[in-house]
Parts: sequence; structure tokens; C-alpha cells
Amino acid sequence: ASKPPKKPAPPNVITPAKIAWQTDDAGNQVPVSGEFGDVYFSHADGLAESRHVFLAHNQLPERLANLADKRCFTIAELGFGTGLNFLATWQLWRELRAQHPHLTSARLHFITTEKYPIPLSDLTQILSLWVQRAPELAKLIEDFLANYPPLIAGCHRLNFIDDNITLDIWLGDAGDSLASLETETSINRPYIDAWFLDGFAPSCNETLWADTIFTQMQRLSRTGTTAATYSCAGIVKRGLQTHGFEINKVKGFGRKREMLTAVMAGITDSLPTETLSIESVSLNDDSNASIYPNLPSHTVVIGAGVAGLLTAWTLANRGIAVTIVDKVAPLAGASGNPRALLAPNMTPIHHVYEHLHSIGYLYSGRLYRYFNQQAVMQQTPLILEQTGTLDLLIKTNIGTAQIADYPNEMATTITTEEAWQLSGLKTKDLADNLYLPQSGLINPQALKTIILKHPNINYQQLSVTDIKETADKVTVIGDKDSDNGNNSQNPVTICADNVVICAAYESHQLDKRIVECRTIRGQLSWFTPTAEQVLGLPKLPLKYSGYCAPFIVQSGDAEVNNISDNQPQFLLGASFVDADASTGIRREENQQNYDKLMEDIPELSNVLPDDTSAWQARAGVRTQTIDYHPLVGRLAQSRRIWTLSAMGAKGYALAPICAEALADMMLSCFAPLSAITLARLSPNRARLRKT
Ligand code: SAM
Repeated sequence: ASKPPKKPAPPNVITPAKIAWQTDDAGNQVPVSGEFGDVYFSHADGLAESRHVFLAHNQLPERLANLADKRCFTIAELGFGTGLNFLATWQLWRELRAQHPHLTSARLHFITTEKYPIPLSDLTQILSLWVQRAPELAKLIEDFLANYPPLIAGCHRLNFIDDNITLDIWLGDAGDSLASLETETSINRPYIDAWFLDGFAPSCNETLWADTIFTQMQRLSRTGTTAATYSCAGIVKRGLQTHGFEINKVKGFGRKREMLTAVMAGITDSLPTETLSIESVSLNDDSNASIYPNLPSHTVVIGAGVAGLLTAWTLANRGIAVTIVDKVAPLAGASGNPRALLAPNMTPIHHVYEHLHSIGYLYSGRLYRYFNQQAVMQQTPLILEQTGTLDLLIKTNIGTAQIADYPNEMATTITTEEAWQLSGLKTKDLADNLYLPQSGLINPQALKTIILKHPNINYQQLSVTDIKETADKVTVIGDKDSDNGNNSQNPVTICADNVVICAAYESHQLDKRIVECRTIRGQLSWFTPTAEQVLGLPKLPLKYSGYCAPFIVQSGDAEVNNISDNQPQFLLGASFVDADASTGIRREENQQNYDKLMEDIPELSNVLPDDTSAWQARAGVRTQTIDYHPLVGRLAQSRRIWTLSAMGAKGYALAPICAEALADMMLSCFAPLSAITLARLSPNRARLRKT
């Protein structure tokens, strides 16, 4: 009997590329797309062709070298494939930055799209060809592969921080991904400077040369934007011409007769049309200065919890001077627990492309692993201890069948025996479980230490009482050494280009345009187990109707949490008291944390002390909106006042990606979240006003 035809994957669910290897005329093995039957690159000169067609014919060497201070140059590519074009661009950017000191604070943003991403194992094999043949790419390939995301739909932001280069890989159909790029939330409209049109030949695959793609290219370009492609097919020429581009046939690479370059015609405030030839584009980049006259150079961030710290770091990393203030101290609020669990709330895979928890979890994991490298160099405690987490799926909206749709490196199920072995549990039936290998514990104090060392960040204790906005600046007014505005001891004013309010539930008091949020008190408990108890307690973090985790106190923790170095500890979280903003410690909430664990994992009653009165605890207030989404964006009728707040209990997973989106909006770049997601996060969204 013949097999039933394979069901097509639903939209937004990724089908990985099937790689085949073919022998070319010279007897070399070259990778071929199973879907389209076309080669990804030529073995003999794929890299040289990439440099000729896409880099040279978008005039990248000249245009990038001419970038002004803090400017961001944005490239968009159709068809990421093996990443060779990106790697060639990255290498050029590195070389230019080494030659031109003025590029230190300039940034390169490479946005790419891919419907059939290549699995990591195939990609490693493919790129090993270039490790041997182009040693100048070897280190870049290593860093790129180490950050390659799991193949799920949506935008994956990879920041190569030391080189000021950001790669956004939008997995999914290119037309949908381009349509997701938001242009309306920034002060100035972001645009693409150069397009790499690298679909397979139109005869193999018309989808990347469709009218909808050219319509998006027109929407996302401005006068002077360039495009290059190896293809001179009629469909390509017509598509570009009918969407505002002037085209030019030039000599193709090697033995190829011709290729196509294009430049977006039109009129802008700063550019006379007659300057618009492809040769003059490098001059045009200086016009950035007149198009974006007011890039901020100084921002005040109010609130030094995880949202404020990540906002400060993200802006500082883009070359902005940041003053971050807090009325008490950094991490004095809900994000200052001894440890925070970094583990996502999962969703069925066909929702994942717009699921902030999943996107945020993956991005924050990459960022914290980068911070870990910094911590190793600076010999400070690690930020993320990647322990893996076992989720017993007691409080969840996803079952084991749906977890099977995920790539194993992100989420998988394991057998009861494997789960017993990993966790040290002995009797509980663990057949329905979720194992998150990249999950783990965050050390908030270690993160704070790394962030506040950034040379562009200046922390001050300040209780803000007022924010005044004028046409050209904001003034933040507050008191030092005072934790409320009534008792002014030492008034201070700070002027800046803009301000970001990251004050959780108190944000509303600072600006009434920020909606008043729910306050949810949560108390975390921990104790020092005896050596015998350590043997019987779970060996990795567990999620059930609460969560628990073993951890070891590191130097630097002690002063804050009143526990001594290298002591094993065991934490249980967290109580949940709605509409309560008090932070005193309550014995009954330690007991609740204990009871939740006993109810879900009764075998631990043999190990855990049932007297919780000696446990330590810390209570914080989490802030949540009525639709559970954070607040990220600019306030209505304001040019200079922004907010990032209301992360609920998920600040460590959400703040890094939300801070990236916020910085992009502030600096008029493309955010790594879709227009729909950004609308859901807008502090001015209509849903917040409904009760
Ligand atoms: N730029 C790549 C490189 O540097 O290796 C080579 C790109 S390859 C010639 C074309 C790519 O377009 C393939 O990886 C293919 O899977 C992808 N592709 C085809 N149709 C697509 C679509 N509708 N949306 C997004 N990507 C698509």
C-alpha cells in the first residue's frame, strides 16, 4: 500500500532544510537544497561571488567606512541559507572597524529571512568547508554556530556584542517576516539601507521574487536604499522597477555575463534626486545626520530592578550615556531574590512565533551566556548557572504530545528513569514531564555587578518626584537620601534627551499615562540543608505548582542575603498574594511554599524539615497588567518619555528582549519583535483601559 501523502506543515511551523550533497564539475562536494534542488553556493568561488555581488555592488566597503558616530546601518537579506553572505559582511565590518576608529560606536544590523533553516549539524558540516578555505572566517563561524538558535518560527536576535553587529534571523516565510517589521513606533521611521536578494533562481522558486516581496521592499526602503542580486530574470527587473527602484545591469561574477543592482529613487528632505545613482550612494550616508538629527546621547532610567538594569545596559551598549537611578538601591525590589529561575512558560508550537515568553527565554539565555563569558574574564560569579530544569507539567497549558513538536535542545520530554536520575527523586511517576536543557538559575547580584561596570552607565540613588518634558529635553527631579518625596533633603535635577520609567507598580505614580497595574506579593523561602538532607533533595530546579532549586552561595551573595560562602542552599518559591504590596516576611507563606512542594512531591517529606520557622525568606511585589503583557514603548503624546515595566514574575526572561525592542524604537531601528507583538506591548494599548 502506498503511504498517505505527508501533511504540509501549518504556517508558522518550521520545516528544516533537507541538505543533499552533490559533486560539482571539479569533483568537489557542494550542499544542495532538497526542497529546491539548487546549490547554496559554488565550491570554487562562493565566497568571492558573495563579496562581489552583495558587498561590492551595494558599495558596502565605502558606505560602512563612512558611517557616522553611533549610526546604525541596516542590511536585509532574502534567503539566509548557509549564512555565507552574513559571514562575509561580518568579516568586512570587522576589518573596517579595525581600520577606522570612528566606527567604534557605529552599528551594523543584518536582518535576514529563512523559511527552511539548515539544521545545526548540517550547517556545521557546510561551514567547515569555509573554515578550511577562508581562515579569516574561522572565528566568526565558531561564534555564529555557538549562537545558532533552535529552529522555531519567529525572530531570533543574535548580538555579537564585541563587534557591534546584530543578526536578526526571522524564521518563516520571507513575505510574512518583512510584513512583521514595524516602522511606526519609533520617533523616526527605520529603513533598510541595502538589500541582498539571494533567493534560489526564480525558475526554482518564485516565492522570493513575488510581488508581495517587492511591495514590502518598497515599504521598508527610502531614497538611496540599494539592492543587489545575481539574477537578471525579467520577473526580478520588473518587480524592482514597478516598486520604485531604478535598475542597472552590471558585469556578473566570474564567467557570469551580468547581474543587477538597484537604487530606490524618490525625493527626501535631504537628498536632491539627481544625486541618486548607485555610484553616489556612499555620499548619501552622510545625510543620515540630517535625517536623524536627534539621536539621544543621554538617557535617564528610573528604577534599578531587572527591567531598569537591562534597559540601561542595552542603551549603554549602543553608545548612549545612561544615568540609572533608584529610590532605594539596585535590585531592592522584586528582582533581588538570591536566585531567579529562568524557565519559559511553553505554548503550542504554532503560536511560538509571537510568544514573548519563548522568544524572550531564548534571547535572554544567549545574553546571559555572553555575560557569563565576561564574568569568567573578570573573575566574578556566573550570571546563569545552566542546570537544566525539570517541569512536572502540573501548572501548564501544554502537554507532552505538544512538547514533541519542539527542537530537543529547547524542550523535550525524558523517561521517568532519566528524570529520576537527573533529579534524584525516587518514587514519583514522572511520565508527563518537560525537560529544559538550557534553563537554569540566574544570580541577580552577579548580573547587577556586570551591568553597573559598563563604562557608559552611572548609578545614583535618587527618589524621583517629578519628570518634566520640553521640546528638546527632559528634566528628572528628585531627592537624594530620601525614600519619599515629602521629606526633601537634597534636591537634584538631571537633564537628558529622554527618560525610561522602569519602576514596576510605582511607574503610574511617576506618570499617570502609565496604567495602574495589579500588585502581586510573592515570598521566596530558602534554608541551609544538612549534608544528609542535601543527598535527598532534588539535584536540579523543579517546576510543579511552585518551584524549588538547590543552589550554592557564591562570594558576593553573602552580604546581601546574610548567608555564608559556598554553603549549599535550597529555595522554594513563591507565594502569590493578589493586591498586596507589602514586603514584610510572613511565616505562613514559608509554610505555603512548603505545602505546595509536599502536595506535588510527597516523597520529599522524608527529607525536608517540616519546621519552616527557621527558614529565610524575601518578599517582593510583582507587577502585572490585566492582559498579562508587559508595558514597552513610548507614552502617548510624548517624544521623550518611555516605559519598560510590568514584567510580572518573568523579568529575567522578558527584560532582555523587551529592552532590545525599546532601544530599537528609541534609536529608530527595526525591533526583533513583530508589529503585532509590539502593539500588544504598547503602554497605550486600548485593552488596558477596559475593565
Ligand atoms: N544567502 C544564502 C547564503 O549566504 O548561504 C544562500 C541563500 S539560498 C540561495 C536561498 C534561500 O532562500 C534558501 O535557504 C531557501 O530555503 C530560502 N527560501 C526559499 N523560499 C523562501 C521563502 N519563501 N521565505 C524565506 N526563505 C526562503
